[in-house]
Amino acid sequence: MAANGKAKKIVIVGGSFGGVNAAYALRRALGARAEITVVSREPTFTFFPALPLVILGWREPNRVQVALDKPLSRRRIRLVHGEATALDASASEVITAHGRFGYDFLIIASGAELDYAAVPGLGPAGGNTHSTFSLDEAVGARDALARALSAERGRIVIGAAPGASCIGPAYEIPLMVDALLRKRRRRHRFNLRFLTPEPFLGHFGIGGVGKFPRLIADEFAERDIEVTTSARIVEAQAGRLVLADGTQAPFDFSLVIPAFQGGPFVRSVDGLANPRGFVPVTSELKSARLDNVYAVGVAVAIAPVGPTPVPVGVPKTGHLTEQMACAAAHNIACDIKGGPKVDGLTLPGICIMDGGNTGYYFSAEPFLPPRNRVVHKKGKWSRQLKLLFEKYYLARIRYDLPSLHFGW
Ligand SMILES: Cc1cc2nc3c(=O)[nH]c(=O)nc-3n(C[C@H](O)[C@H](O)[C@H](O)COP(=O)(O)OP(=O)(O)OC[C@H]3O[C@@H](n4cnc5c(N)ncnc54)[C@H](O)[C@@H]3O)c2cc1C
Repeated sequence: MAANGKAKKIVIVGGSFGGVNAAYALRRALGARAEITVVSREPTFTFFPALPLVILGWREPNRVQVALDKPLSRRRIRLVHGEATALDASASEVITAHGRFGYDFLIIASGAELDYAAVPGLGPAGGNTHSTFSLDEAVGARDALARALSAERGRIVIGAAPGASCIGPAYEIPLMVDALLRKRRRRHRFNLRFLTPEPFLGHFGIGGVGKFPRLIADEFAERDIEVTTSARIVEAQAGRLVLADGTQAPFDFSLVIPAFQGGPFVRSVDGLANPRGFVPVTSELKSARLDNVYAVGVAVAIAPVGPTPVPVGVPKTGHLTEQMACAAAHNIACDIKGGPKVDGLTLPGICIMDGGNTGYYFSAEPFLPPRNRVVHKKGKWSRQLKLLFEKYYLARIRYDLPSLHFGW
């Protein structure tokens, strides 16, 4: 098809939840009518939701990644392992160290950069806190946590920086540490503290979901995890976090989720991204600025649901990202073949939080308020469901198994 010039060139920047799902959905929707290229900084897909398990030492690091080359080449999707350094929008070309890649359609699925620099001393690279946004970070956190937990006593402080938008893992880790210490009958020797920019527990950057905030607040109280909400962490010194109100949180181990910001690639075209580096889109997920450019997942700009005393970002979860990827692929197929487009912004969301010895499930439809339907439950079954989902998802990326969400 490419030889007779009919196949459309589609380039996707990013090879994670957004990029891989978009590539698979495009191949299904367009078959030989598309020449698909994924430009990915990473040669592997990482199942991020399993990184808290790695940190607790409950999952081998080599079990949470899938090398992208074979699964993509089986679907005749070209993988360019490298960084997209800039976008030449007037020539419709993505610029990389391996050359320029022309496109008829571009999908930006490049997530975000981690803004450790916003808080002096934050982050594992030369800073004083750990993090969980790559396998290396998780392994570093695992080793440091194991050392801290082997001491006679200790203070574990988990938190999120102002503006953070992926706070879920920061909830899971103290709950998991609590479960581990209780199992070892050493919980009484450790102080667990949770610092969050959210105005209340269970806000998650989406204004909370039904009565879930009460459920999760009861759970933290039950487990004696000390909570500070509307926490504005301003500095991470060696062994203590400093808050804007002058209070301090001393620690023997600390992990803090940073805020996100867009990288140089999305900033290389004037007006493509907002000042934080996120891409404003229409309901079709098309760039508000460029007609043949779509964006999905973390890269998309979504305004906060309302003001909060300390900024909290809207999470673009893995589940939302996958749905956006399928919606963008569908809408590009409609650009090419015709047909009715779908709304890629008003989507339902499902979250499952692993509490170490139980789990917490909620679904919200749509994800952002006001909503038509919410469900929330606690139970060991939901933890098992998340563990099963991990196996399914890694197999899904390996073999392009059908998506569990029904729609496009
Ligand atoms: C510890 C942790 C736990 C989580 N748990 C859950 C959960 O339980 N449930 C859930 O739904 N979600 C969860 N999430 C969120 C989920 O992982 C994200 O929503 C998802 O990863 C977003 O996918 P994305 O493709 O938009 O961005 P990303 O996953 O950030 O991927 C972007 C990719 O693009 C690459 N890239 C960036 N810039 C360039 C460039 N210029 N050139 C080439 N490549 C580039 C990056 O290296 C990266 O591989 C979790 C996240 C973390 C970190």
